[in-house]
Amino acid sequence: MTEACASCGLAVAGSTAGCQRLFESIGLREYEDMRFARYHRIAVDVYAMQHPDRYGRSAKSFAAHLTGLCAWLENESTAQSVNAAVQRWLSGPSPIQKPTLPPTYGAITIRDLVDAEDPVRYGEVLRRWARATWDAYAPLHATAREWIASAQGR
Ligand SMILES: [Zn+2]
Repeated sequence: MTEACASCGLAVAGSTAGCQRLFESIGLREYEDMRFARYHRIAVDVYAMQHPDRYGRSAKSFAAHLTGLCAWLENESTAQSVNAAVQRWLSGPSPIQKPTLPPTYGAITIRDLVDAEDPVRYGEVLRRWARATWDAYAPLHATAREWIASAQGR
């Protein structure tokens, strides 16, 4: 039976659990095929930000995924070092609070990624998915950038 995922709204057999299975199939593809492996971290960050009740339950995990999304969209080549700085920062006594979530998470879902079987197309869809999700978090863009600046000691 096709029902909407309670978080991202994707109409999928099995609703939220079905959506989760699609995400797991993407993880497997990224694990098994080197051409997709480079997208693993950002795919996790985007999916987490579309499913924050599951993957961003604590303020720290929420901050890790939101800043990961921000860093990758702003500069893919430095995202890894930003993520490392954020991880070090979050492992300390970082005084952050989980902000209010936006009402929706964008119109692109994990389904679009599952359907993109060619690696080049996959990269394109992933960028659109990441951008649409980030746009849905517009009220938190400044917060994400502040967290990154704090992590980098600025
Ligand atoms: Zn979902």
